[in-house]
Amino acid sequence: MRERFERVYAPEELGGRRRFLQALGGAAAAGILAGCSSSDASTSTAGPASPSGSTTTTDESVTTATADSDAADATVVEGTLVLGEEMDVTEGRIRIEDGQIESITEEGVDSDRLIAPAFVNPHTHITDATAKDGERARNFSWFELFIDPGLKSEINDAATREQKRTAMAQTMQFMRASGTGTFVDFKEEGIPGIEDLNMVDEGTAVDAVGLLTGAIDEDADLEAEIEKADGYNTYAPYGEQAERAREICDDLDKVFALHSGEPDADDIDASLALNPDYTSHMVHAREQDYETLSNDDIGVVALPRSNLVILDELPPLERLHEATTVALGTDNVMLNAASMLREMEFTSKLFDVTPTEVLKMATINGARLSKRADRIGSIEEGKRARLTVFDTSMELKNVVDPIAGIVRRATARDVERTILR
Ligand SMILES: [Zn+2]
Repeated sequence: MRERFERVYAPEELGGRRRFLQALGGAAAAGILAGCSSSDASTSTAGPASPSGSTTTTDESVTTATADSDAADATVVEGTLVLGEEMDVTEGRIRIEDGQIESITEEGVDSDRLIAPAFVNPHTHITDATAKDGERARNFSWFELFIDPGLKSEINDAATREQKRTAMAQTMQFMRASGTGTFVDFKEEGIPGIEDLNMVDEGTAVDAVGLLTGAIDEDADLEAEIEKADGYNTYAPYGEQAERAREICDDLDKVFALHSGEPDADDIDASLALNPDYTSHMVHAREQDYETLSNDDIGVVALPRSNLVILDELPPLERLHEATTVALGTDNVMLNAASMLREMEFTSKLFDVTPTEVLKMATINGARLSKRADRIGSIEEGKRARLTVFDTSMELKNVVDPIAGIVRRATARDVERTILR
């Protein structure tokens, strides 16, 4: 299988590629892109996205507290709310207690805030956040980026574990600042990679769902390895290990997710035959695949910005959306900022889907695919209080449709705070 990825570089290509690699590798090794120390990063990720994020209420009988104080404190946030799995817009108050949405009161309030569920990003690779240059990466083919060994591996190899942890912490900090509460990472580097992710996760309120990614030693205890992670991913060609991993994930209620149909359709049949909780990309979905996705209830994570930068192609998003549950993800941090706001705007303007559908793809649909819809992904009583609070005094001033405003205009600057309980 790997032979088909082998490619001979023309001398002029190699020169440019090497210079690019040296620039990125050098930056990663020098820690220029990684920036501050991990202790700084973990301290700051634990704090609020906006230091001024105090919660106000007009009702003095209600206990108020900042979102980042003791989770046992009650908090009330009010404004225009995006409620439930259907993303219904109404004014009202959300009362938070013990980390949960204790009650929602729909009534007129004196607040310009706009409050949506925190985003769920079900497909990232944040290890490669030590070196970022998505625009120049457009000069590379998919094969050059990922295979034998590929730019991505070279970037990861060029950085120390400490540099990678620092870059991951900074990425998670940015995720929170741009409204994301949970992400699923296809975590390279085996169990040490998962341990690194968990270590960084502990210092931030953003939840990292780490999928053990890549081949696992045949002699290893597969169940014990998967037990340490939140799920499993591997790449084609699939063997007996992938089939066993599928069963183990079912038994342990872990996430089993794959990549399919990215540079071509060659791996689609084999990946869908494994009946994953979701697959990703499906840029090269064929007519028969829509039926399989629908019949077997296999979700798809679409990554349109990634597909454009790597393949100069886009996924058949409307067809996929008709067939099954589609969520949005941001993919490799080396290529794109892990911003669901940017992914939503891009998706909304390129495809014929409503802003409400796009918002679902960035919230509840990702929660469903990652088996967490009972806890996150929408604002409902009993769910965890994970909310993105938008300040509407700048870019969101005068928006006619609040959901279209969030999906098509909002930037991280408009996120006043992300409440993550
Ligand atoms: Zn991926």
